[in-house]
Amino acid sequence: MKRLVILGSTGSIGRQTLDVVRHLPNEFQVLGLAAGRNLSLLREQISEFRPSMVCCAEPAEQDGLLPRGVRFASLEEMVQDPRADLVVVANTGRIGLLPVLKALEQGKAVALANKEVIVMAGELVTKVARQHGGTILPIDSEPSAIWQCLQGEDRSISRVILTASGGAFRDRPIEELDKVTPEEALKHPTWKMGNKITVDSASLMNKAFEVIEVHWLFDIPWEKIEVVIHHQSVVHSMVEFADGSVKAQLSPPDMRLPIQYALLYPRRLPNECIPRLNTSVGSALTFQPLDTRRYPCFSLALEVGKRGGTYPAVLSAADEVAVELFLNRKIKFTDIPKVVEWVVEQYVPPAETTLETILAGDAWGRQRALEAVGVW
Ligand code: MG
Repeated sequence: MKRLVILGSTGSIGRQTLDVVRHLPNEFQVLGLAAGRNLSLLREQISEFRPSMVCCAEPAEQDGLLPRGVRFASLEEMVQDPRADLVVVANTGRIGLLPVLKALEQGKAVALANKEVIVMAGELVTKVARQHGGTILPIDSEPSAIWQCLQGEDRSISRVILTASGGAFRDRPIEELDKVTPEEALKHPTWKMGNKITVDSASLMNKAFEVIEVHWLFDIPWEKIEVVIHHQSVVHSMVEFADGSVKAQLSPPDMRLPIQYALLYPRRLPNECIPRLNTSVGSALTFQPLDTRRYPCFSLALEVGKRGGTYPAVLSAADEVAVELFLNRKIKFTDIPKVVEWVVEQYVPPAETTLETILAGDAWGRQRALEAVGVW
């Protein structure tokens, strides 16, 4: 029985994590749940999974939320609890960073769906994991595919090929992209996900973040990571080895498989909630080169990611604000890369990369991005 702490339990990945848990009742026990403001769903989750600790926004005002025997705890307290075997980090953005570091400092296993944590602080997070014997288990489908392909192999990797669906606007004429609406951006062709990541998928910012993730998580040199457009989202990524053999991981686009893989690693178990690939109907798998003119965020983010230090924290922060501004109709979709570039180019990085300077870079990036509205 693995005891789980789940951060972001009411979000898309959190709900799917609990679905995996619900179908494997003999494998997991939920020790802690943390959510933001979706209290009605949190209440249902508490009564179904009976955690012993709960964290939510403004707990002082949540009289009557908790049944007897359940108590409020902070994120830090939850992830450091000696009873916790695995911490699932399914929230988004910078709020994931401190809990991830705290859990890793305790030598815990962290199943990480929050990619901003690795984008912001990949170097620091992987260093802390190494120093304290903590483990990072990726939940993102592409890094999970690479992780699965690497099982049983030595390190003779010649390249890693990440697949990208191309997002909501992959078939739109480029000259129409400055007129697209938030509603259109949120219609992903193959995946159902949270709003921020769906917009990041339309701009391919998300794919650049995954390249950064793969670089840090698997220690793969930048020049060995490639991206290919694959509309069906069935091949989740591929690894080519020194002899030219390519391994790929395939499954229908459903996050519950990579979630379960991280939760049960290294075991595999049947789970009726996870859909199977249907090979009895005719279907094609296609691969196309990436058109970087369509996706200016991709090259920009990758270049900033490679600069390293505190730059990626500024990148991630500026993107988070830019996506929010787009969703609130304050800027156009095509302004997202402009805001991010405008912010990053003004940044003067500090000499050292520490938790403090990463958080300062994040705060600076956020502030600057808000000031970008109306600059052009
Ligand atoms: Mg992904």
